Amino acid sequence: MRAGVIGLGIMGGAIAERLLATGYEVVVYNRTREKAEPLIAQGARWADSPAEVARQCEVVISIVTDPAAVEQVSFGDRGILSALSAESVHCDMSTVSPAWSRYMAQTYRQAGKRFVQAPVLGGRKQILEGTLLVFGGGEEDDLNRCEPVWRAFSDKVWRFPTADRATTTKLACNMMIAHMMVGLGQSMLFAAKGGVSPATLLDILSKSNLGAPMYTTKGNAVLERNFQANFFVRHLLKDLSLAEDAARETSTMLPLNALTRELFVAAMQQGFADEDYSAVVKVMERLAGIELRKDLYGGQRDGRPYRTHL
Ligand code: NAP
Repeated sequence: MRAGVIGLGIMGGAIAERLLATGYEVVVYNRTREKAEPLIAQGARWADSPAEVARQCEVVISIVTDPAAVEQVSFGDRGILSALSAESVHCDMSTVSPAWSRYMAQTYRQAGKRFVQAPVLGGRKQILEGTLLVFGGGEEDDLNRCEPVWRAFSDKVWRFPTADRATTTKLACNMMIAHMMVGLGQSMLFAAKGGVSPATLLDILSKSNLGAPMYTTKGNAVLERNFQANFFVRHLLKDLSLAEDAARETSTMLPLNALTRELFVAAMQQGFADEDYSAVVKVMERLAGIELRKDLYGGQRDGRPYRTHL
């Protein structure tokens, strides 16, 4: 089968790479062509527009920044909708709002075209390992058409009857990511200010019921001062904002979002937009007047921590 990938950023680039590695014929398009070059070298075929991808593929994946970017690649003369055949399906995997995904589903339905909203949880690593989580929302028949392609990079697919429920699920997960990161930063700073090595705290968390793999990976990345982006600060702030818009529609309180979102706004203002979302901890470090590092405390002496810094 031939699959198309539109948007070759962190996620789309990895999806195209994995589809190629698992034997798919892959047609790619990206607004900035240079990002396609490594994939073309691996055997992907370049298309000059989203419409050209749609013309050639049975399943057309888009994974771009936000609703405005999805609009750009979907509509207009050179967009996906105009060229998609009645048998092909556009599967948008971007993180968007429930309202936007409802609009997409309705617009495609009215045009007699197939659309599935399928946001994902996990990053480049999970895509390349084939363990990404997919939340597919749409008509049963359309989900069936997409599922074989998802299975190239996912071993966990959840199905929802509508596009907006898939998106709601994704935003619920991403709020957790933001809150967990801020909670971890808070506890590491609290521990460090009290003379406890943040590395010791991570070790304890990993061995307890509180242990989430994310605490280990992101906690260690903070201690190693590695903020190279797997998922940009600016994208997680976008998702917190989308969640707030959606919560207004359903009159849902999001009390934790109020503070968390402000910290991500501060991370943007302090120049961390293109760093990994774990860089929000740098904002908290500045407020606390301390920088978290692996060697912050030398370890234990007679069962008690001792200070090597501060
Ligand atoms: P990224 O690296 O910033 O890539 C964004 C992509 O969108 C690029 O291909 C970019 O094209 C394209 N784009 C942006 N604005 C556009 C426009 N107006 N018209 C056409 N194309 C446009 O982001 P990413 O991390 O791959 O994330 C993509 C989506 O997946 C986002 O919705 C994000 O929230 C979601 N997501 C990300 C992760 C993650 O771990 N990274 C995980 C789950 C979900 P250019 O190359 O030309 O800029």
